[in-house]
Amino acid sequence: MHLLENIPLAPLTTLKVGGSAKYFVEVSGIADLQEAIRFARSRDLPLFTLGGGSNLVVADAGWPGLVLKIAVQGIEQHSGHDEDGKVIFDVGAGESWDKFVSHAVMARCAGVECLSGIPGSVGGTPVQNVGAYGQEVSETIVSVQVLDLKDGQVRALCREACGFGYRTSIFNTSERGRFIVLRVTYALTPGGSPRIAYADLKRHFEGRETPPDLAETREAVRHIRALKGMLIIPGDADCQSAGSFFKNPVLSAGQHDDLKQRAVARGLTLPSYPALETRKKVSAAWLVERSGFNKGFGFGRVGISTKHALAIINRGQATAADVIALKEHIQQRVEEIWGIRLEPEPVMVGF
Ligand SMILES: Cc1cc2nc3c(=O)[nH]c(=O)nc-3n(C[C@H](O)[C@H](O)[C@H](O)COP(=O)(O)OP(=O)(O)OC[C@H]3O[C@@H](n4cnc5c(N)ncnc54)[C@H](O)[C@@H]3O)c2cc1C
Repeated sequence: MHLLENIPLAPLTTLKVGGSAKYFVEVSGIADLQEAIRFARSRDLPLFTLGGGSNLVVADAGWPGLVLKIAVQGIEQHSGHDEDGKVIFDVGAGESWDKFVSHAVMARCAGVECLSGIPGSVGGTPVQNVGAYGQEVSETIVSVQVLDLKDGQVRALCREACGFGYRTSIFNTSERGRFIVLRVTYALTPGGSPRIAYADLKRHFEGRETPPDLAETREAVRHIRALKGMLIIPGDADCQSAGSFFKNPVLSAGQHDDLKQRAVARGLTLPSYPALETRKKVSAAWLVERSGFNKGFGFGRVGISTKHALAIINRGQATAADVIALKEHIQQRVEEIWGIRLEPEPVMVGF
């Protein structure tokens, strides 16, 4: 185990704010991990598990304990098929998610192509049940291998045990902080067709005579994401973010009616997105933009992406306090105007 001290965390995140970790260790196997946990316990240090840092706001005070950076590597493709004709992939939590998607697409296996270009690690994907363009990882995850901090055992949690929902799982709700993800097992469909369900993707391929293949779909998704600042492109200030900062609110029928009435009173029509409506969700981006926060909105060292109303960006030298001030400003305005409290999507670390 190679233990480091006072390691700045901002460079290890996509938003690039926040202080240092008191202790920091990168672990690529179970023995290192167990040694690191013993060290933290012997000093009563709080643990934080870090993946690719793409869904985090780290406090300016940093993390007072040990940060475990998970670097478990390996993409293993099982030979043959399972009983449902799927191909099984066992992937180390420390692998780049997009590298795995690229691997799956090249192997002509369908199921994750719409999740191309999402930053972060494989181990981060079950945590918030990563989703985009009509797919979620919960559709293809078979099991998640974890180290249980409660009893120190390594075990496999089947999909049902992970309790997946919209941007949730047991890992970020009921059992938050209990499990360290070591590997994730996905079942993909060999020779399967890409899922072209989302409006942006359908539009991209409009007028084509032959249906797109997996590789074309992956490229289309990456292209659409780049236009929205949702693909990490070095040097593009619009992607110094934690992705979408707010979740799409899930409303009751009563709340939905109230929202519609508020829109009518302002001469606006609530947009209809079939993908959202099936789950009684409304677009957080629409609410943010209709509350006075347009794309490109500046708020000192932070602001809103010029390409996407939901991304709070670090415009250079921002602090976590700057990010939180803008988050609160947006939440307050949206609540005043629309009666809805937006919930942040990124994980707050050390607050
Ligand atoms: C430009 C941009 C676009 C994005 N687009 C999307 C999108 O389309 N859809 C979407 O769902 N998300 C999106 N995100 C958010 C983010 O990429 C995902 O949530 C990603 O899965 C986070 O993975 P990570 O490895 O970076 O996790 P981190 O940010 O490092 O951590 C996030 C949480 O997961 C936990 N965690 C990470 N690794 C492990 C592990 N091995 N074991 C246990 N816990 C762990 C952390 O403790 C923390 O609680 C986007 C982010 C950015 C910056």
